[in-house]
Amino acid sequence: MTQTAPLALMSEIASPTRGTSVKQLYFTAFLLTVTLLIALSRPAVVASGQYLLALSVLGLATGLAVGIRWEKHPAGWAALVPLLDIAAVGLVRDLLRNEAIAMSLLVVIPVLWLAARLQARGVALAVLATTAAITVPSLLRAETVDTLTIAVAALLPLTMLQVGLLTVGGLRVMDGQNRELTSALTEVEESLGQAAAAKQLLTSVIDSVDVGIVVVDVDGNDALWNRAQHRIHALATPPDVEDPDEARLRICFPGTNRPVPPAQRPVRRAVLGETFSNYVVTLGAPGAQASYSTSARQILDHQGDRSGAVVVFADVTSHIETVRSQERFVAGVSHELRTPLTSVIGYLDLAREDDLPEEADALLGVALRNAEQLLHIVEDLLADQVTRSGTQELELRTHRLSEIACDSAASFRLEAAKAGVSFVQDFEPTPALPLDAPRLRQAVDNLLSNAVKYTPAGGTVTVRTSVQDGHAQLEVSDTGIGMSMQEQANLFTEYYRTATARGSTIAGHGIGLALARRIVVALGGQISVRSAPGEGSTFTLRFALDSFEAADGP
Ligand code: ADP
Repeated sequence: MTQTAPLALMSEIASPTRGTSVKQLYFTAFLLTVTLLIALSRPAVVASGQYLLALSVLGLATGLAVGIRWEKHPAGWAALVPLLDIAAVGLVRDLLRNEAIAMSLLVVIPVLWLAARLQARGVALAVLATTAAITVPSLLRAETVDTLTIAVAALLPLTMLQVGLLTVGGLRVMDGQNRELTSALTEVEESLGQAAAAKQLLTSVIDSVDVGIVVVDVDGNDALWNRAQHRIHALATPPDVEDPDEARLRICFPGTNRPVPPAQRPVRRAVLGETFSNYVVTLGAPGAQASYSTSARQILDHQGDRSGAVVVFADVTSHIETVRSQERFVAGVSHELRTPLTSVIGYLDLAREDDLPEEADALLGVALRNAEQLLHIVEDLLADQVTRSGTQELELRTHRLSEIACDSAASFRLEAAKAGVSFVQDFEPTPALPLDAPRLRQAVDNLLSNAVKYTPAGGTVTVRTSVQDGHAQLEVSDTGIGMSMQEQANLFTEYYRTATARGSTIAGHGIGLALARRIVVALGGQISVRSAPGEGSTFTLRFALDSFEAADGP
């Protein structure tokens, strides 16, 4: 406080905008103190008429400074007060003459004041007033006036000119800095206002949508949840658990009660850097589950580094219900078709056993192939329905992936040989897992059927099982036509066939891989493909061993 008070007073005096009265009272106090000191040693000087005139001028200046509200008048008028002060100093200086030359320096206070208030005009007034009040009287009283006397007398106005100009220059620099600071502050305030408005808008928008939105940072910490996401999280929260982490939420593969392993849960996948769309999971307790289609996108910072991810949960329960009822209808029709078709195939086979004319046998052969193709489609459609419809329809028993692959390979060896394709198999036994063997066999059959179908004569199909990084793994490789990256991206979409397949005579309907993927995912596994056009393809199925142990309990 004691250190800052003089500083505050000085800044009041130097400030061009502060009140006239403060400045004047400071000056008056200064001059009265000097007067007191003079009175102690020269009482007669203070009692003289000229000194009393000087005090009267000082009193007048102080009265004007305190009594008049200068801010209501043009800035130039207030110059009257410092001019009177210079006059008062001039009178005292003239009285004391050479005994108190330093008295002249007192004018520096009104000079500063004039320069600060009126800039260049103030400096001119200050120089004129100093010359008139001090320089001219001292020259008039000089016994001899030569160049030296004039130079000495001119020193004071010249010094005041320097002081005034420095003050004006300094104030201009300060003024410029102040303006820059003010505009920077205004910009910051505007930016803050815009940021607050944008945040408000974003919050309103994301709260008004019906999909759950979660934003996480790269470490998996939640950065933002919208209102819908709170509801969805509550649905997936087990009872009696206050704030579960993602691994404890009730998240299952669609159509099953099989929990999704922690690393395959939507938010975890996003945190691990994956971008995906339409990854369907069910949330909630068995019997009260809702299906959500989840998508994730990575968020990049201004340097292009990953700073987090946004995951969206869209409720597709009713959509899935509608699709399921349509599928049930298709499945019903397919089921009804299967029996007569099997019978048609049986009779066609029987008819061909007879000794028929060549042409009739050929025609029956075409009919038989088409009937078999139709039966294959009907069976795929039926299997499709089973994988979509729920746990009760998946029959989980412990099986080895290697045995299922071995069974499937046995029925394709002959087909490969007929097509002129070498068939290589290498089965490392894999641990027993809870699997639906007929369903999984159908997925493996589709992979092997494709591998043989899309490999020209002379090529090789290899089927291999192994245990890799805690997973039971099955690989079906071929040296066939292969696919581009773009084609691989659409491969598991229903009814999709590559341009090469469509342009060829190879029969197909684009259901097999979509079905295979659904079966594998429903059983808690993963399916992936590596391929290059003209070089061949490798399809890989993987089932995590530890997640099955966890899922099956102790
Ligand atoms: P399709 O009945 O047409 O074979 P799928 O769903 O089994 O139906 O396969 C979809 C498409 O993927 C095929 O039409 C084909 O274009 C491509 N495809 C599948 N497997 C292979 C493979 N091993 N080599 C090359 N292309 C393949």
